[in-house]
Amino acid sequence: MNSVESNFREVIDTHVHPIRSLTTGESLITEMKKAQISKVVLLALDLDPDILDTDPKLKEEITYDLLSYSLFLDPSKILDAMKNILKMGNTPNKHVVNLVKQHPDKFIGFGSVNPSKDSHYVKTTLQEISDFGVLQGIKLIPTLQFFHPKKNKNLKSIFKFAKRKDWPILIHSGRDPGPWEIHTLRCVNNSHPKYWSKVIKKFSRNKIIFAHLGGYGVNSTYDDTWFEEVLRMTKDNPQIYLDTSAVTYHLENQRIVSRIRETCGFERIIFGTDTPVVQGTSMEHSKRVIERNPILSREEKTLIFSKNAEQLFQLS
Ligand SMILES: [Zn+2]
Repeated sequence: MNSVESNFREVIDTHVHPIRSLTTGESLITEMKKAQISKVVLLALDLDPDILDTDPKLKEEITYDLLSYSLFLDPSKILDAMKNILKMGNTPNKHVVNLVKQHPDKFIGFGSVNPSKDSHYVKTTLQEISDFGVLQGIKLIPTLQFFHPKKNKNLKSIFKFAKRKDWPILIHSGRDPGPWEIHTLRCVNNSHPKYWSKVIKKFSRNKIIFAHLGGYGVNSTYDDTWFEEVLRMTKDNPQIYLDTSAVTYHLENQRIVSRIRETCGFERIIFGTDTPVVQGTSMEHSKRVIERNPILSREEKTLIFSKNAEQLFQLS
């Protein structure tokens, strides 16, 4: 019989965005209490809100990609929407540091560095991230930072830095809300997990988390190639984990659950919510999707909710 299982002692949400216009430290603590979540990982996002004005080549590429999706689109309006999202999403490392300092028992902080910037910027930012003394990981997001994982020259120094620190790198994979749902955009397709295989092979001892079980997208039918590729990579590399953020509902799908069991196993799946980015969900809702899930065992739920993250973040 499938009963409602509850009372998981520890629940760690490994994917939360402390977006300044949408959240405060206190609002996040309130949401955690309501959902009975013990710890959350707060992600900085080093985005450049001016890039679409300062990089004409990128602007031209996006305009071309939008028109190849539909000639009836107005690229300038979509570019404006993108600029607004970049402005809103930009979350400085210092902001995450301040939140972690206010609630060190509740918040784990990840820094962010934009690999599209020049190597001097990347080095200086990594030094700052280190000097804060409280951050424990790095977030990378090809869609909003506009880089190609196979072509970017700064990834080497970022991966070396993370390895020295023994920090996980959380990699966004899949689409993103708003205009980044448009599948003809190169900056969206560049976030396919397959483009990371070379760098991950080279840095095979780095801890990696792929977000969204390898591919997120609300307006699309689920594209299996993203998920299958990330499963293959996770199976082949014991340092890779997958988070459930924004796609916890995939774990209600018997086929997806079976594929995870057959490949990397639930020892490599960690709970994340993407709060507050995905409209219509909450920490409480995402947690309940797993808690009440009839096809996952109690042991698998414990792995997802806490055991795997405790191991990854070396929490006692
Ligand atoms: Zn996210």
